[in-house]
Amino acid sequence: MHHLSPLLVQSSGICAERGEGSWLFDAEGHRWLDFTSGIGVTATGHCHPKVVAAAQEQVARLVHAQYTTVTHPNMLRLSDRLSEHLPAGLDAVAFSNSGSEAVETAIRLARHATGRPNLIAFQGGFHGRTLAAASLTSSTTKVRSGWGPMMAGVFFAPFPHTYLYGWDEEATSTFCLQQLDQLLMTQSPPGDTAALIIEPVQGEFGYYPAPASFLAGLRERCDRHGILLIADEIQAGYGRTGRFWSHEHARIQPDMVVTAKGLASGYPLSAVAAAKGLMAQGRPGSQGGTYGANAVSCAAALATLDVIEEEDLVNQAAEHGCYLRERLEALVQKHDDIDEVRGKGLMLGIEMVRAPGQPDGERAQTLLSRCEQAGLLLLRCGTHGQVVRWLPPLTASRQEIDLAVDTFEDALENSA
Ligand code: PMP
Repeated sequence: MHHLSPLLVQSSGICAERGEGSWLFDAEGHRWLDFTSGIGVTATGHCHPKVVAAAQEQVARLVHAQYTTVTHPNMLRLSDRLSEHLPAGLDAVAFSNSGSEAVETAIRLARHATGRPNLIAFQGGFHGRTLAAASLTSSTTKVRSGWGPMMAGVFFAPFPHTYLYGWDEEATSTFCLQQLDQLLMTQSPPGDTAALIIEPVQGEFGYYPAPASFLAGLRERCDRHGILLIADEIQAGYGRTGRFWSHEHARIQPDMVVTAKGLASGYPLSAVAAAKGLMAQGRPGSQGGTYGANAVSCAAALATLDVIEEEDLVNQAAEHGCYLRERLEALVQKHDDIDEVRGKGLMLGIEMVRAPGQPDGERAQTLLSRCEQAGLLLLRCGTHGQVVRWLPPLTASRQEIDLAVDTFEDALENSA
C-alpha cells in the first residue's frame, strides 16, 4: 500500500516509468500510446532527445538563480525567442511555474494597471485551481463548490457553445455578445472592469473554439471601454491548434497572453506576455515567486522552440489535425453514440451521447478503460466527463494516429 494522498486522483491504472516520443512504458514492459500528452504538455513527445540534451547540459551548469536578484542567459534568450512568436507590441514577458500562477499574474496586473476591480470570465472556462484562478473557472464545480468564498469582483458572461445553443456560429456569437453588453451595462460597468479573460479554444469544458466573430466582438468592446483582453493560451498555445497561438485563428490581438503547458515540454514553466508599458504598471517584486524562470526549464523551453521550428510542428499539427478530424468524423457517421467532433488542430474532442444532445460520461469512461487495456491512453473532459479528448503530441506520426483511431474504433464496436 502506497501513502498517496486521496486528493491525488489517478484516472488510469498506469504507473509510468519511462516515456519516449508518443509512448509511455511501465516497469513490467507494457506500453501505451499516450494521446493525452500529460494534458497537452509534452507537445514535442516524451523525452525528445534535443530537449533532454539541453536540460542535461543546463543541470550541470546552473539550476536556480532567483530572478528578482539576478537574471540568467536562458531567461533572457527565452523572452527574446518568445517575443518573435508573440503579437507585435507584446514585448515583455514575466515567468512563473504553472498555468494558474501565470493567470494570477495577468489578472493582478490588469487590476493594478487599470485601477479597476472587476474581471469578466466566460461560462465553461477553465483557468486553474489557485483561489483566484478557480474563481475565474466555471467549467467544473469541483474547484469552486465547498471551497468558498471565491474571489470577489468576478462576473461570468456566456461563451458561444454553438453545439449547446443549437444555433449557427453567427447567431450564437451575436447572442453572447449582446449578453456581455448587458453585463457591462448592469453588474460590471466598464469603469469597474479591468479585463476579460478567455480561452480562444475552451479546453476542460469540452473543446469549444470561440467563433472568430465572437473574439473580434470582444476585441472591439475592450477597445471601446479600455478593458484589457487576456488570452489564456495555456492549453491551446505552441501550435496545438495548428497555429502558434489559438487566437490567431480569429486574427485578433490580445493585450496579454498567458501560456504554460507546451512551453517547456514538461519542465515547469509558465509565462505572461504584455506590452512593456503595461507590465511596468505592476510593482517590481510584486508578482511571481521564488522559482519562476528556472534555468533548466528555460533551457528546455528554448530547445522546445527549436524543435517546434525545425520539425515544422505548427504546420504538422494543422495537417495531422485535419487528418485526425476526418478519421473521427467518419466514426460519427457510423456510431450513434458520437454526436459531434469539435476543436482545432490536434486539440479535438468527441461528444459521447445516449441520444442526440444527451451526454454520456459512462460510455466515455467505458471506452477509455477499454482503450487503456488495448494500449492507448486517452482523457475525457466536459461537465459529465462525456467528451473524449484527443491531445496527441505534435510529433505523433500518421501511423500512430491511425493506430489510435483503429484502437478507439475497436473499443466502440466491442464494448457495450
Ligand atoms: N488554463 C487552462 C486553459 C488550462 O487548460 C489549465 C490546465 N488544465 C490551466 C489554466 C491551469 O494550469 P495549471 O494546471 O498549470 O495551473
